Amino acid sequence: MGTVLLYDIDGTLVTTDGGARQALLDTIIAHYGDDAGFDFGFGGMTDRGIFRRGLVQRGVAVEEDLLDRLIADYLPRLESVLARAAVHRLLPGALEMVRASVGWSGVVAGLGTGNVEAGARMKLRPFAVDALLPFGGFGCDAELRAELIAAGHRRGAARLGLPVEQTRLVVVGDTVHDIEAARANGGVTLAVATGRTSHEALVAGGAEVVVHRLDDVGAIAALARLC
Ligand SMILES: [Mg+2]
Repeated sequence: MGTVLLYDIDGTLVTTDGGARQALLDTIIAHYGDDAGFDFGFGGMTDRGIFRRGLVQRGVAVEEDLLDRLIADYLPRLESVLARAAVHRLLPGALEMVRASVGWSGVVAGLGTGNVEAGARMKLRPFAVDALLPFGGFGCDAELRAELIAAGHRRGAARLGLPVEQTRLVVVGDTVHDIEAARANGGVTLAVATGRTSHEALVAGGAEVVVHRLDDVGAIAALARLC
């Protein structure tokens, strides 16, 4: 057996304190003049899923190439927001947890995020965790989170040289969507309440382990037990 460990980004490893959300809203405003329809929480959703839901709520006919164009327009806006953002930072304990987990025998660590891969790398590039998480499942693999987690799981299993069925899946994330996507793939979750979902809601969502922050005493040991 081996273990594929996938880390979510937003609210789990890093925060942009709303900067990434604003870059996405700015994209919509640039195309449509306002951001009506996008008044919902983006946490745990894929980039494509966010654009689709908001456009449907605006009554826009959603075609796949429209979503492609909006995502292509969003990425440079995200890059400039991140370059300016004083609040683009690693969350407490994220680097320590990733550093510990990449050293565990039989474990490969990567990303499981609704960001398209280019956006994911933009968010992580300033930080040492980026190079430690070289593969993953991304928002450009699938619009549904369970499917992008499956893609990350397959890539991790390939790195281990094992069939997917002979690997455990462990997800670290900050929303109920992360928990449900792990479970849909037979995996377990360490959930962290540094995003917009409360500790209580993550417990109710069925995460195997819930911590307030990744630097909680015992959090790394709890993740090691899941792996
Ligand atoms: Mg998240």
